[in-house]
Amino acid sequence: MTEKCTCGEALEELWALIDNELCTEDAQRVQEHLDRCRTCYPQYDFDRAYRQLVALQCRETAPAELRRKVFMRLLEDGA
Ligand SMILES: [Zn+2]
Repeated sequence: MTEKCTCGEALEELWALIDNELCTEDAQRVQEHLDRCRTCYPQYDFDRAYRQLVALQCRETAPAELRRKVFMRLLEDGA
């Protein structure tokens, strides 16, 4: 996974990055993309804020299905 990261890949791995589930190499690659890409970075910001909100309200990780719904809505709004 040393190829340049695309927007799609970066967004796919966004949750894993936030959850610290990526290996250092992948995390760096995605993080680098987010730093440079104005399309993806706002989403990264939103995701962190969203997770903090969920953590405060539920003290648990949001179900994967809820995550995906919010994520898809975010993509539609950003289009
Ligand atoms: Zn991007």
